[in-house]
Amino acid sequence: MTGPPAGVERDYPLARLTTIRTGGPADFFARPDSPERLSELLAWADAAEIPVGVVGSGSNLLVADEGFRGLVLKLDGPLAGIELDGGRLLCGGGARLPQASARAARAGLSGLEFGVNIPGTVGGAVKMNANAYGGDLARVLEWVDVTTADGTERRHPEELGFRYRRSNLGPREVVARAAFALSPAEPESVKSALAEMRASRKAAQPSGIKTFGSTFKNPDDARAEGSTAGVLLDRAGCRGLTVGGARFSEKHANFVENMGEATTADVVALMAEGRRRVRERFGIELEPEVEFLGEVDAAGLRP
Ligand SMILES: Cc1cc2nc3c(=O)[nH]c(=O)nc-3n(C[C@H](O)[C@H](O)[C@H](O)COP(=O)(O)OP(=O)(O)OC[C@H]3O[C@@H](n4cnc5c(N)ncnc54)[C@H](O)[C@@H]3O)c2cc1C
Repeated sequence: MTGPPAGVERDYPLARLTTIRTGGPADFFARPDSPERLSELLAWADAAEIPVGVVGSGSNLLVADEGFRGLVLKLDGPLAGIELDGGRLLCGGGARLPQASARAARAGLSGLEFGVNIPGTVGGAVKMNANAYGGDLARVLEWVDVTTADGTERRHPEELGFRYRRSNLGPREVVARAAFALSPAEPESVKSALAEMRASRKAAQPSGIKTFGSTFKNPDDARAEGSTAGVLLDRAGCRGLTVGGARFSEKHANFVENMGEATTADVVALMAEGRRRVRERFGIELEPEVEFLGEVDAAGLRP
């Protein structure tokens, strides 16, 4: 393997880059701040034949306790910036979505309000097709610049294969920039919509805990009779259930909480137990929403 480009760090701890704060180090880590640099790093990973992972805010990410034997990228500088261009908001893939929502509100632009409570980046939101309060990412997303080892190309929402909490972006395709086309509105009314959304979220979900938010997707299964994953877990007796340092939140049964010293193995064992209970009680197979980085033993999380 040829050595990594200058500026690439080795054995970089990843736990602190995730909101659940578990998992081991990445063999290689870099913070690219331009599409060219991003492309150079991806090309090196191709030549070195090692896997690539992108970390946004790590708010939907579970890193293996053994870490990741590849290159992890976290977008920085202009690739994490937010700029206004008339009725359009131009964001780096690493820009934080709640900041983008607040910036749009201040400028009197409506359409991105749903992002205020999604603690991820713009790139993570595109990859995960993030959504809340009936807001629709695809409706306001105008285009994304996707960078690969071969360079950067512009894609439109209909090319991104959006479905429930998924897109068609592969691990070596990085959202470097995105543009949102928004509608003019009174700044005060957009700001008060954000405040209301923050308040209702605070009432419904735990705050100030180490978590990656919803653990399982809401099932698309008639036997669920419209129940969310949280309701099914609750009815299967999972609220407050604990394995090692991890537990299903008392406030929201679909949230796993790291009580302090949890490992990824604890989180995965808890998820497997929650899934087993829901299958036994209702015959429904819950599917993880959280993304894995590294060799996570997910045998108990598959049908
Ligand atoms: C308290 C809490 C509440 C939440 N509420 C919601 C909610 O209401 N709705 C919702 O949809 N989600 C919610 N989430 C989940 C999470 O915030 C979203 O999935 C978010 O979009 C993840 O973004 P991220 O930057 O943190 O991605 P990460 O967790 O860092 O990564 C997730 C995936 O996206 C990929 N990725 C990240 N950046 C890029 C990029 N630039 N280009 C390509 N791929 C990239 C990663 O490789 C990984 O596969 C919540 C999470 C928490 C902790």
